[in-house]
Amino acid sequence: MMRSHLFFFFLLLFVSCSKTHASVPLFDAQITMVNVPEDQQKKVFAAIDLIKKVVASEEFKQRVLNHTYGGEKTYVDNKGYTNEQIYQLILDGSETLVPEKNGRMDVELELYKQSTNTIGYTYPNTNRIWVNTKYFNKYTPVQVADNLFHEWLHKLGFDHAIKYSKSRNYSVPYAIGYLVEELATKYYQK
Ligand SMILES: [Zn+2]
Repeated sequence: MMRSHLFFFFLLLFVSCSKTHASVPLFDAQITMVNVPEDQQKKVFAAIDLIKKVVASEEFKQRVLNHTYGGEKTYVDNKGYTNEQIYQLILDGSETLVPEKNGRMDVELELYKQSTNTIGYTYPNTNRIWVNTKYFNKYTPVQVADNLFHEWLHKLGFDHAIKYSKSRNYSVPYAIGYLVEELATKYYQK
């Protein structure tokens, strides 16, 4: 009797372990670079590496799923999607312009030089994002990871207020961009 109980205990343990293992998502990122000098390219590759580690982590999953605004599990400007659906959209890598669920972040990065206070911009009809070298050249790989992920979340169709407001930080691009930066900081120090 004792033996069979023990057997089932180990069987349960095995099943729950393999379940946990299976839930670790695979996520890839492919950034096409335009007008990015070699020294800055290294920074982009480091940022891509950080993004892949962050998105595949259990902590990222839990934080995205449990994000709250006004005491509820939700995001500002969520397009009617639940936190679970937003997390799934990220894992699917399903951009508005490249909707195939390829589990990959597909984005193009082009650098430009301007003395304005604009960090960067993009349009809905392109997968390219433009980033000002005035900021980009000073960024750490962790900050590049935040910036790229923020812009990429626009490519998934999420938007936010143009002007700063307290609630804007709870929009999908800002909230999850900041989260990527926070978690990437941990991986970068390791
Ligand atoms: Zn934005």
